Amino acid sequence: SAPLLSVDDLHVTFRRSGGPGRRSNTVRAVRGVSFELQAGQTLGIAGESGSGKSTIARSLMGINKPASGSMLLDGVDVAHRRGSSLAAYRRTMQMIFQDPYDSLDPRMTVGDTLLEAVRLRKDRVADPRGEVRALLEKVGLSRSFADRRPRELSGGQRQRVSIARALSVDPRLILCDEAVSALDVSVRAQVLNLLKDLQEELGLAYLFISHDLSTLRFMADQVAIMYLGEIVEMGSRDEVFERPQHPYTRALLSAVPEPVVIDRTVRLPRVRLTGEPPSPTNPPSGCSFHPRCPLAQDVCRTTAPAARVTASGQIAACHFAEPEEVVAAS
Ligand code: SF4
Ligand code: MG
Repeated sequence: SAPLLSVDDLHVTFRRSGGPGRRSNTVRAVRGVSFELQAGQTLGIAGESGSGKSTIARSLMGINKPASGSMLLDGVDVAHRRGSSLAAYRRTMQMIFQDPYDSLDPRMTVGDTLLEAVRLRKDRVADPRGEVRALLEKVGLSRSFADRRPRELSGGQRQRVSIARALSVDPRLILCDEAVSALDVSVRAQVLNLLKDLQEELGLAYLFISHDLSTLRFMADQVAIMYLGEIVEMGSRDEVFERPQHPYTRALLSAVPEPVVIDRTVRLPRVRLTGEPPSPTNPPSGCSFHPRCPLAQDVCRTTAPAARVTASGQIAACHFAEPEEVVAAS
């Protein structure tokens, strides 16, 4: 079936001032990113900070304007929506951020925050207060929470309130940008389980952005690994975690602390990641990962690798990605 969200060859650049008296630089934050997300599914996007994950989120929210490429939601480009089409888009896609402190008004009670959101709904709600109670119940909070303010809530409770607010307009897609990264491990697991239950119940799709691979392993159906503005590997969760093709993915997985490296039947050579990612104002020649890649050869310094697609549909942009499995190069 047609994907709910289809991003094709997205490029996003912006100017960053180099400080007083310095030239401003063009940051090439996203370079040719393509992916699809089906209704009811989760796509996880991983990568170090500065890899372009949050720029994708900001582009979908209309904050960053793409230089080129398309972002189709239900077949209509997000960047071209105006008026009622834009309003419909804002109901279809909701966001949850790392720190709900930034997005919840500290002076408003939880009940008023949710009431305000319920009133943005397309169809008039007959009993808005009843709807607020139903939303609280959906996210596992008792109705007494309606009278509290954000500072009276724990981090996990605040994140439940932002989930309730996102649900208030019946979205089909929720963009989660490091949504559980600030929570401690046990609370994080509770919120992730809640998101999974809601997905099952409501058929929600999630675009789940996180630097934390164990979170993505738990949440995602498909996983994309970003490096310096590009997707270097993408595939099903099991493919990416159990049979990673790209040296960068292997390096990220090698860095995960022991207890969360899940599949022990596959022995991967450990790839140690050294140094910092280069600046996105001036990406390296050839393969962007070559200055940090322990497997780099001469060809990597001069020639950008084409994305190779394996028989199962896993994509890896590396000259040496399992050639025997490759069925096509794009
Ligand atoms: Fe490493 Fe070369 Fe593959 Fe890039 S193309 S990931 S530098 S081996
Ligand atoms: Mg970020």
